Amino acid sequence: MNAVRPQHAPLTQFEVVDDCLQIGGMALTRLVERVGSTPFYAYDRARLTERVALLRRHLPAEIHLHYAMKANPMPAVVQHMAGLVDGIDIASGGEQRVALDTPMDPGMVSFAGPGKSERDLSCAVAGGVVINMESAAEMERIAVIGQRLQIRPKVAVRVNPDFELKSSGMKMGGGPKQFGIDAEEVPAVLARLGELDLAFQGFHIYSGSQNLKVEAIAEAHEKTFALAIRLAQHAPSPVLTLNIGGGFGIPYFPGEERLDLAAVGANLKALLPAVKQQLPHTQIVIELGRYLVAEAGIYVSRVIERKHSRGQTYLVTDGGLHHHLSNSGNFGQVIRKNYPVAIGNKMRGGERETVSVVGPLCTPLDLLADKMDLAHADVGDLVVVFQSGAYGLSASPVAFLSHPMALEVLV
Ligand SMILES: *Cc1c(COP(=O)(O)O)cnc(C)c1O
Repeated sequence: MNAVRPQHAPLTQFEVVDDCLQIGGMALTRLVERVGSTPFYAYDRARLTERVALLRRHLPAEIHLHYAMKANPMPAVVQHMAGLVDGIDIASGGEQRVALDTPMDPGMVSFAGPGKSERDLSCAVAGGVVINMESAAEMERIAVIGQRLQIRPKVAVRVNPDFELKSSGMKMGGGPKQFGIDAEEVPAVLARLGELDLAFQGFHIYSGSQNLKVEAIAEAHEKTFALAIRLAQHAPSPVLTLNIGGGFGIPYFPGEERLDLAAVGANLKALLPAVKQQLPHTQIVIELGRYLVAEAGIYVSRVIERKHSRGQTYLVTDGGLHHHLSNSGNFGQVIRKNYPVAIGNKMRGGERETVSVVGPLCTPLDLLADKMDLAHADVGDLVVVFQSGAYGLSASPVAFLSHPMALEVLV
């Protein structure tokens, strides 16, 4: 008996007109002409706006929403997001420059990440952004820089929690970690912080990424609030902000279902009254990267050749893992699975066929789609990889094999 194969969750964010994918209110075939060459990434402005509105609808109104820009650092995207969210989270000096080019108040920009250089730190202090401190040593270095610049640095303590986010694609907290200060060390760090000339803002507690399970996220939120309330008793001044992380996932692979955002929001609503009683001065922040931008983006490449090898058909394209490492299954995935893929100018097509889509690199890892059911494609047709707006180009080895860089457009 044939088991029913799990399907990709239906993609409803893009319209199809005359069998051609529409993005940014334009047929993909026309966008290709506008861009001038393939491969490229296209991000749909209206889908970004809609996603923020969806979150605002489901999350309690008093929660602030931050964009973690490492998910998609394209300056035009960051600029657009800056007009929609309450803050931007950065992870490098380079990201800081892009964030501070937007109209966002620097006090609503926060900088996390291990191994911040002296220059990263002095740029952040001079820029007036909040530094999420990853260690006691980093705190001492920030205090010295503040003295030198005669600026009181804004700092928050990034806590490595004493719990893990269950069912998370990538664990970022719990156990030994290079991120944050172990929860049990935090009281001593806060005592020292009180002796230094630093403006304490609050806590940052981030436990994981790409999570689709409401129960796991709800449990992490509950434990995060409890931990923050416990640690607040040791703080030198009121906790002004509590960043509870994010980690909301999106469906990439067959069988994955959308995160039930309404349930996540309802759980937060139930938890908030008790938190507000204990932490009356605290602004709660959720920081999201992938969830905000991933579904608004596609990666487009063109079929260069149809090739047959021992009964299997390959579509060889001009795009590949050098632009889109995560789609190839080599960015933290344990087993390679297909992203949703379609022939963008033949969304349904006439005849269908089972094909593998590969890129131009001399490695078997350069696989865009493995034995997928797609419309019959000819040379010149457009292969679209969906769910590509996050951890795409900037998370890929673009220099590998010296092919041309992919372009990026916001439409
Ligand atoms: C990467 C990162 C994020 C964004 O994670 P997503 O899974 O893309 O939402 C948020 N906060 C911190 C500290 C990060 O390092």
